[in-house]
Amino acid sequence: MAIEVDLSSDTVTKPTPEMRRFMCEAEVGDEQKHEDPTVNLLQEMVAELLGKEAALFLPSGTMCNEIALRVHCRHGEEMLAHRSAHPIHFEAGGPAALAGVNVQSLDGPRGQYDAATLDAAIRPDNRYMPRSRLVWVEQTSNLGGGSIWPLEKIREVTDVARRRGLVSHMDGARLMNAVVATGVSAREWAAPFDSAWIDFTKGLGAPVGAAMAGSRDFIAEAWRLKQQMGGAMRQAGIIAAGGIYALHHHVKRLAEDHGNARRLAEGLARLPGITLDPATVETNLVFFDLTGAIDAPTAVERLLARGIRMGALGPRTIRAVTHLDVTPAGIDKTLAVAREVFRG
Ligand SMILES: *Cc1c(COP(=O)(O)O)cnc(C)c1O
Repeated sequence: MAIEVDLSSDTVTKPTPEMRRFMCEAEVGDEQKHEDPTVNLLQEMVAELLGKEAALFLPSGTMCNEIALRVHCRHGEEMLAHRSAHPIHFEAGGPAALAGVNVQSLDGPRGQYDAATLDAAIRPDNRYMPRSRLVWVEQTSNLGGGSIWPLEKIREVTDVARRRGLVSHMDGARLMNAVVATGVSAREWAAPFDSAWIDFTKGLGAPVGAAMAGSRDFIAEAWRLKQQMGGAMRQAGIIAAGGIYALHHHVKRLAEDHGNARRLAEGLARLPGITLDPATVETNLVFFDLTGAIDAPTAVERLLARGIRMGALGPRTIRAVTHLDVTPAGIDKTLAVAREVFRG
């Protein structure tokens, strides 16, 4: 059966006809020579959005993270991140392979650790130990259920970083979801960090690319690594235009995704065999646990057989993600199918 409602990820969005037209008409040049006006414009927009001196367009969010690690850390130094952080699980070992960094995983509910946990984990100056160098925040936290780090908590952990002489980085793959959900600007969220980036290919709905911002020196170094890792492109304006279009047209509408996620969560929470507190659904990610006879891979298979795609994140955990291509009618359809699958 064809997939009718794809809730497996917000990366499945396809560029809209208007976005395609805008991309098609983009002015282009050689971005490596800073001659692509569309890439240059997107970089200026992101530097402005995140309140930093400069920004760099990159092929993916993964490359943003890996380049940030390499700029901030020398081999053998340590990053401190929540144990659910993206580079620990989904970047093919990049922190070890590319940056040579030691990862220290921190605990805490919903993808977040607190300032005291961080403070206690930072190593003393001791030549037996890795040197703690980089503090990492993922906003929103993916495996934390799309949870939003409160601004106060971000300020506390980045204060600890500064006080202890560490630098800090924000993986903002879904930062714009946090912006729309809270009304706190991207600039405010990014202010305490040395580097931060946003993804255009998640809820923003563009086909390719991410952009990272920081100081002029940080971005100059990031440019060198972009070149070295083969991420420097040529007439990249054709894809950067998707990011520009998304920033103009697809930010405010993220509120619709959040509304759809909440309604999905409220409907699912009423079904037998599902544990889900709708109050934990703050953005576009809906995580729930199965307590009945059916396990997550089986449930996902049965949903898929009826045209609904979700992801099994563990033996008993399912993730559903709302995005640009999910409509309120799609949520109704999903709930109707879920009622059949989870009947008991
Ligand atoms: C998707 C994602 C990334 C990686 O971005 P890509 O553009 O897919 O490479 C990094 N961090 C988080 C939290 C993500 O959700």
